[in-house]
Amino acid sequence: MNRRRLVLITVAAALLCLALWVSLSTAASPGGSASGTANTAFVAPGASTYEYLVGLSDGIGRRVAGTLSGTAATNWIADQLTSAGYTPQVQAFSFVGGGKTRNSANVIAVKPGTSAKVILIGAHYDSSFETYSGKPNPINRGAADNATGVAVVLDLAARLQSVTTPDTLVFVAFGGEEWGEKGSGYYVNHLTPTERSNIALMINLDSPAGGDQLCVYNGPKSPVSFAARMQLQLLARENGTTLLTNPGLTKPVSYYNYKAIPYGETEAYFSDTDSFQAKHIPWVYFEATNWLLGVNDGYVNTVKDGIIWHTDKDTIAFWEMHYPGRIEKQLGTVVDVLDQYLTTTSF
Ligand SMILES: [Zn+2]
Repeated sequence: MNRRRLVLITVAAALLCLALWVSLSTAASPGGSASGTANTAFVAPGASTYEYLVGLSDGIGRRVAGTLSGTAATNWIADQLTSAGYTPQVQAFSFVGGGKTRNSANVIAVKPGTSAKVILIGAHYDSSFETYSGKPNPINRGAADNATGVAVVLDLAARLQSVTTPDTLVFVAFGGEEWGEKGSGYYVNHLTPTERSNIALMINLDSPAGGDQLCVYNGPKSPVSFAARMQLQLLARENGTTLLTNPGLTKPVSYYNYKAIPYGETEAYFSDTDSFQAKHIPWVYFEATNWLLGVNDGYVNTVKDGIIWHTDKDTIAFWEMHYPGRIEKQLGTVVDVLDQYLTTTSF
């Protein structure tokens, strides 16, 4: 069999699978939704983490902050939280990105706990507008980065809505992360001093599934953050699963301004953690990547395909074709560990 024919057959088979999958998903969806749009039909009450991922990454799709699809994503997330029994707050903000003013919003849902201390569970929902090297990425659907993170936030919010938790849980889907943490920056800058001091820990979910190794990191010089990371890794171990961390091998590269990133840590400025770090709020960070590749800075997330984030490969179709079942398994591990952590931890 020659190479060209193999490629053609592979492509044809892939298209057939995709068509079948789309028709099955459509047939299986119950129809109807809070907003009445076709997109929300992907997710029914009691949905799995994976179904939220599909709803956002395929149902909404590309969602660059400040575009119409970005706003569709905002509304979709608010709809999911409403279906889960919350009255979400849509916190609108504007920023300048790519030479124009863009409108985006954070979507916030609060689950009161026994205490006023807050554990904030956050994920950005916008998808990137270009690759890391500045090339257009029109097919990118932000599946791993960061529909996976939003799926975890939405699933946890739904699961825990009527569960008693020691601390108050605040679930936030942040807008505009890809333009420089705009949504989380706006969020922390508009907290009252009391609200700010009540946040005991921020749990950041940025690409918590997809990459080769499921990891959790703590922030620098924070005993609270360190203890949380260790506890989360222990819970995973007790569940028979594994949460790795940064092995501390980073090669300093002056061009990127990377210093060696210490064992167990990651750079706050890689994600919305930057905004919380600026306010001295402890954080932990979930991410699936591969710290054994490149300059060991966690940017190259797979051995087989290199960097997938921000590229046209970051679609559910690509992940499932090349890494079947991986995302669903990793999401399961993250949600189970966080479910236990949030129902037992008291600050
Ligand atoms: Zn991201």
